[in-house]
Amino acid sequence: MRIALQLDELYREQSRQWFILGGFCFLALSIATILSLLASRYLLSLVRKGEAYLESQVKNRTREIEILQNFATQLTACHSIEEMLAVVKLIATMLLPQFTGALAVTRSSRDKIEIVQSWNGEWNGLPQYTPDECWAMRTGKAHLSDIATGNVVCRHSPGDTGKTLCIPLIALGETHGVIHFSGSETDNWTAAKRQLALSIAEHTSLTLANLQLRDSLRQQAIRDPLTGLYNRRYLLETMEHELSRAIRRNLSLGIIMIDLDHFKNFNDEHGHDTGDFVLSEFGRLARIILRKEDIPCRFGGEEFTVLLPETNREGTYEVAIKLVKKIREHDFVFGSQSYGPVTLSIGVATFPQNGKSTDQLLKSADNALYEAKKMGRDRAVLAEVSN
Ligand code: GH3
Ligand code: MG
Ligand code: MG
Repeated sequence: MRIALQLDELYREQSRQWFILGGFCFLALSIATILSLLASRYLLSLVRKGEAYLESQVKNRTREIEILQNFATQLTACHSIEEMLAVVKLIATMLLPQFTGALAVTRSSRDKIEIVQSWNGEWNGLPQYTPDECWAMRTGKAHLSDIATGNVVCRHSPGDTGKTLCIPLIALGETHGVIHFSGSETDNWTAAKRQLALSIAEHTSLTLANLQLRDSLRQQAIRDPLTGLYNRRYLLETMEHELSRAIRRNLSLGIIMIDLDHFKNFNDEHGHDTGDFVLSEFGRLARIILRKEDIPCRFGGEEFTVLLPETNREGTYEVAIKLVKKIREHDFVFGSQSYGPVTLSIGVATFPQNGKSTDQLLKSADNALYEAKKMGRDRAVLAEVSN
């Protein structure tokens, strides 16, 4: 009986222990399940966040690619550098809105680079600089001015606290300019942003090169290389156009025909090179003396014609007298020697008084020029009004 009691006690004790163990196991299992549930929830939220981030990245990239494609299409349709600059400004503002930007173009003399467009705020760097003052120009590669990473700051840069990325615009084997993106000290040039800036520069450089080439070919076709003035072909085309405009809108048009006096003697006495210098210096002075809207042309040899849109008889004659006086008074210095005085004979004709066609007007100006020669040269003569 006692043994039976002891066995029963032992059995109960064992059952209690099994029960406690079972309880522990159940508790541990529950905790593990809760923990794994929490962990999987956390992981799921991480995955969702990652997915959302990737989705936004893909959206951004797609938007950027679309903008760049638009950019390329619009650039190919640009007819002038001004149009191109407007497109670059718009696209750079959309793609890199946190950076102030500027586009600089290399002058044809190649000794200066000039800022011609800026966006996203005022450009605080130098408005023009020499190729030596930009590390991108020196190295032919993109350069990030950033003291913190040991990159020297370009001398044209807006200051030494920010980070300016300069990218040379290289195409057809030449550097046509530089595009600048300037950010604050805290702005981070990630690889993606840098790639965007490089893409903008790449598209821009080819268009700039093509437009500059087109411009220079056009200039060669309409300009006289010695004097830099327009050539005869351009004069005749423009005169037709200006005359129709004057007839249509009831405006005046002035024509000045110029001939350098005794220029054959001048050449014989001082040599052809000195003669060439006088012609080119005359071209330079004419551009200074005349208004921007006047159209000075080399008619041929030592003869020049100027069209003065919207200028009446008195005004045109005044300009002719001014030209005679200024050229007579100018000291033509060539190779440290002074030549002169150089004098002009001028014939002046005006629309509507001297004719209604280009031929009539040119003939009247030529007749007046002939009169000026006859009267002793170094003067301007106004064409008589025919009735
Ligand atoms: P006038 O006072 O009557 O106009 O006499 P002129 O000697 O100026 O006129 P003419 O028509 O007899 O001679 C024009 C000279 O202009 C002859 C020519 O050698 C010179 N000439 C024309 N084109 C050029 C040029 O491109 N360079 C140089 N150096 N001389 C030129
Ligand atoms: Mg002549
Ligand atoms: Mg002459």
